[in-house]
Amino acid sequence: MKLLLLGKNGQLGWELQRALAPLGQLVALDRQGLDGLCGDLAQLDGLACTVRTLRPDVIVNAAAYTAVDRAESEPAQATLLNATAPAVLAREAKAMGAWLVHYSTDYVFDGSGEHPRREDEPTAPLNVYGRSKLEGERLIMHSGCRCLIFRTSWVYASRGSNFAKTMLRLASQRDRLTVVSDQVGAPTGADLIADVTAHALRTVQARPELAGLYHLVAAGQTNWFDYARHVIERARAHGQPIRVLPQAIEPVPTDAYPTPARRPLNSRLDTTRLREAFGLHLPPWQQGVDRMLAEILP
Ligand code: NDP
Repeated sequence: MKLLLLGKNGQLGWELQRALAPLGQLVALDRQGLDGLCGDLAQLDGLACTVRTLRPDVIVNAAAYTAVDRAESEPAQATLLNATAPAVLAREAKAMGAWLVHYSTDYVFDGSGEHPRREDEPTAPLNVYGRSKLEGERLIMHSGCRCLIFRTSWVYASRGSNFAKTMLRLASQRDRLTVVSDQVGAPTGADLIADVTAHALRTVQARPELAGLYHLVAAGQTNWFDYARHVIERARAHGQPIRVLPQAIEPVPTDAYPTPARRPLNSRLDTTRLREAFGLHLPPWQQGVDRMLAEILP
């Protein structure tokens, strides 16, 4: 099997380089490309040309416009990278019978209610990033290519920057911290997403009828405030120089922390479809976060 991976150096792309390697011949590209191959999502012709040259059996797109707040002032760029480019990949995949694996987000929902959202529930993104990702999903689905689309949330990895690392830095510098406590979701490791992707890709080779849209997040739920406290207390127990005291970490509502992009309060995703289709167990979010901390804490 020949696989083309785009966005190889992002949080998820880095883990996919590891997880996809045993599946076959893997060509992994970043935005700069390699040996005349284009890996830049903004270069639509170059992207199509790369797919036609390589003729992969599987295209895995881990590249995306992920700057949620900046997207509010760059909607055209967000749409180009998150919708138009994936549509080009889908068109090329369809033309050569390749699989396309793509990633989307809980931000396609409006965040109302308190229940975990299923894949077939109505979408209503609150921000430009969410709209661009939803458009990407729709264009891929409408292309008719064989695809796996995984919606995930609150992604972290040992490599790259993320919320947990930011909290650790702030906790070592400040006496007080305020953290949003009314957005609920599941922190999900890029390593878990990558491993599930590899497993699902193997499975669909024999069972192509499993193509489609799946929610993929770690089990359980938390909010940013409890997530921050978890990370900081683990780091303190690990002997890290944490300055902020537990009682000096303060929960605040989303309204108290205005950002250019509105965020959904309910980011819970129901993973029943994924677990049943692929026979998978998704571990509790704390398991992956603790593992990441063990890797990054000196
Ligand atoms: P990262 O921001 O870590 O990685 C995104 C990658 O895309 C980077 O390597 C970036 O490269 C690359 N990229 C950006 N612009 C281009 C371009 N024009 N051409 C090629 N590559 C480009 O994101 P994640 O790994 O966390 O996200 C993976 C997927 O998961 C994305 O589809 C994202 O939308 C989705 N997702 C992420 C969530 C999160 O919390 N992070 C939550 C829900 C879904 P460079 O470094 O050069 O800019």
